[in-house]
Amino acid sequence: MLQSLKARARRAFFLVPFAFFATTAVASADEADVVNVYSYRQPDLIQPMLDAFTAKTGIRSQVIFAEKGLEERIRAEGANSPADVILTVDISRLAAAKEAGVTQPVDDAAIAANIPPQYRDEEGHWFGLTMRSRVVYASRDRVQESAITYEELAEPKWKGRICSRSGQHVYNIGLIASMIAHKGEAWTEGWLRGVKANLAAKPTGNDRAQAKAVFAGQCDIALGNTYYVALMRTNEKEPQQKEWAASIKVLFPNADDRGSHVNISGMALAARAPHRDAAIRLMAYLASDAAQKLYAEINHEYPVKAGVAVSEMVASFGQLKADRLPLSEIARNRRVASELVDRVGFDDGPSS
Ligand code: FE
Repeated sequence: MLQSLKARARRAFFLVPFAFFATTAVASADEADVVNVYSYRQPDLIQPMLDAFTAKTGIRSQVIFAEKGLEERIRAEGANSPADVILTVDISRLAAAKEAGVTQPVDDAAIAANIPPQYRDEEGHWFGLTMRSRVVYASRDRVQESAITYEELAEPKWKGRICSRSGQHVYNIGLIASMIAHKGEAWTEGWLRGVKANLAAKPTGNDRAQAKAVFAGQCDIALGNTYYVALMRTNEKEPQQKEWAASIKVLFPNADDRGSHVNISGMALAARAPHRDAAIRLMAYLASDAAQKLYAEINHEYPVKAGVAVSEMVASFGQLKADRLPLSEIARNRRVASELVDRVGFDDGPSS
């Protein structure tokens, strides 16, 4: 079954054109002191930063939230697109927005000063705002190890002990693309076959579901993003998630060598951006100390700006040593990563 990124993008374009859009009215071009934000990020994750921006500058924001199809929407709107700023997670989606031609470069000294070069596009089309690391969720009861590498996930000692979400999910594609960048395609294919052979079951569920599977004893280790551990530990609405999170410890892979894989959430200036000045002010604000601190405290992500502290909960996981591979390298390898996932039949599970 071919599930390449290209095929998926095509399907998304034809089958889910403008589904999932909230019907929030956006501000027209001649309306001043407003900025239209097109977001793949959940509204409640970004609203605190947008509110703080409004309080500081008087510039209001209007948010259009979508789960997919923002690029298609902006392209379809053409010259009349009200989109000013695009917010999304994952380097794959940021790179896809640039490739779709719905972004434009930003050359702003304050933004460049706050965001390290490896976390922004060399042409200024996208900028990372926060980092998340793809770490190992390990059973506190059944895993004695206090250190691990991505490489060793393919070793026989983990046979039948690994849970995973789909290999085609952008979070796993980012990790696999980083392995290709470090080790080459052929090596990564062999590694991926090894990890597949060690799976406890067919890949399913999201990151939180992997912690649940470890809690339930279905497997001993899984890959997941850092902030979900914090979100599960503090989940008052679904307190059973606190138990899932309590059953796992966070291991930062490759802490003793190149560092753990990190991905980003980020922003881009939309190609038309009718409120260009306000949009760039918002982007500069999101990269500032004040907003970076909010991202750390509310979303439990790692600020990209040096010197801004992580949340107490995230600090309790231990020190992140981030892989310094430029995110653009990961973006370049994402298609090959997707092809490898299909080629090894990762999503078919261990026995096929
Ligand atoms: Fe996520």
